[in-house]
Amino acid sequence: MLVNKPKIVILGAGYAGLTTVARLQKSISASEAEIILINKNDYHYETTWLHEASVGTLHHDRARYEIASVIKKNKVTFIKDDVVEIKKDEQKVILANSEVAYDYLVVAIGAVPETFGIKGLNEYAFMITNINGARKIREHIESQFAKYHDKDKKDPYITIVVGGAGFTGIEFLGELVNRVPELCKEYDVDPANVKILCVEAAPTVLPGFDEELVDYAVKLLKKKGVEFHIGTAIKECTETGIIVSKGEETEEIPAGTVIWAAGVRGNPIVENGGIETTRGRVKVDKDLRAPGESNIFVIGDSSLVINEENNRPYPPTAQIAMQQADTCAKNVKALLRGEQHLAAFKPDIKGSVCSLGEHDAIGLVFGKKLMGTPASLMKKVIDNRALFMVGGAPLVVKKGKFNIL
Ligand code: FAD
Ligand code: NAD
Repeated sequence: MLVNKPKIVILGAGYAGLTTVARLQKSISASEAEIILINKNDYHYETTWLHEASVGTLHHDRARYEIASVIKKNKVTFIKDDVVEIKKDEQKVILANSEVAYDYLVVAIGAVPETFGIKGLNEYAFMITNINGARKIREHIESQFAKYHDKDKKDPYITIVVGGAGFTGIEFLGELVNRVPELCKEYDVDPANVKILCVEAAPTVLPGFDEELVDYAVKLLKKKGVEFHIGTAIKECTETGIIVSKGEETEEIPAGTVIWAAGVRGNPIVENGGIETTRGRVKVDKDLRAPGESNIFVIGDSSLVINEENNRPYPPTAQIAMQQADTCAKNVKALLRGEQHLAAFKPDIKGSVCSLGEHDAIGLVFGKKLMGTPASLMKKVIDNRALFMVGGAPLVVKKGKFNIL
């Protein structure tokens, strides 16, 4: 047994980080290296389920599980702490309560909301970021319903604005339209007084996605009460609502809740660590190392991979994050064993599915369009597969989605 074993340090226990750990703990022996996983919580959450927890259609405990339940304790040391700084010249990571040296570093601390410097968003808007963020959104919406009185119809409490009609905004709306009737019943609110607005700067909902599928989603959401403001950009968020612009015109829209779901950028800790980034994301080499760094891998939403077919970055997704984790784990193992050849990451994009509430969805999977129940079933299969890839069948049994009707 080596006295001073090489240290593989993984930052972040999201899809990218936890999948890397799952692969490494299977493929290397305890005597070969020490694997250290650092995450700010002692649980992993399914980021892809946070829209459900935010609305309250899924309890937030259903969307998370203990990290300890999926790691092999003889191989992996887990540290619950906040990563504060990466000091690459000293090969160490500064945490809120200690510091950790590394021989190999895997950076997988995800993304943060992109606010484009828009005034008031950080102060007044809610963002779908993590379990606590989701809890705050759910509680806030409920409190707005509790404060509302039908007699004053101008009351903006139950006007909810969603900024951004990308996948996150649309999935959130899909849950919200199903939850609102329950909230109305619970808080004696006339459903006719609830306003749900979706404000999207681009000329279409889900820009770039298949038109027929977008049309299906828009019709369904409109039928359930969503008012779309397309080609309209949020310019400011205030204590009482938002200011939008459409062409030359500016309008103030009062709202009790503003959800900002207009994109993400890489976690700033990465660029603050002196690693070159674009919108906070590291344009990684083919082997997933940061350019010029021999022992630092960057994966998941902190990284940027170019699609050579159109020379544009792949959208950051859990799908890519988990695939990168496979290649990253192989490459860390190769370096550890002194091998010269590292594998090149090749994304295998199987498609995308956008949920529209628990029992509806749209999707393009293996080039095939899906709508309604088949798409919704596919989404559950994808959700369960992500659990399986980290924790096998026991985790699927514990946390999986089986409510198919
Ligand atoms: P994350 O999964 O976000 O994990 C990052 C981890 O790092 C977290 O555990 C976090 O706590 C930890 N962390 C962050 N900062 C620190 C710090 N300073 N110190 C310590 N730990 C830290 N993608 C899909 O492919 N399919 C989908 O259906 C889908 N649905 C989505 C739905 C929603 C509502 C959202 C918001 C996103 C969705 N995505 C989807 C995108 C997907 O969730 C992300 O691309 C994916 O989570 C990226 O994985 P990651 O491991 O890089 O980051
Ligand atoms: P996004 O970048 O995909 O969409 C953001 C939307 O906000 C865009 O349509 C943009 O035009 C709009 N926008 C930007 N500024 C605006 C403004 N000032 N006012 C109004 N609208 C504005 O971001 P997202 O939806 O948060 O998704 C982030 C990533 O996560 C993407 O890669 C996405 O593919 C992925 N994701 C995937 C799924 C899924 O596969 N089911 C679900 C959620 C998120």
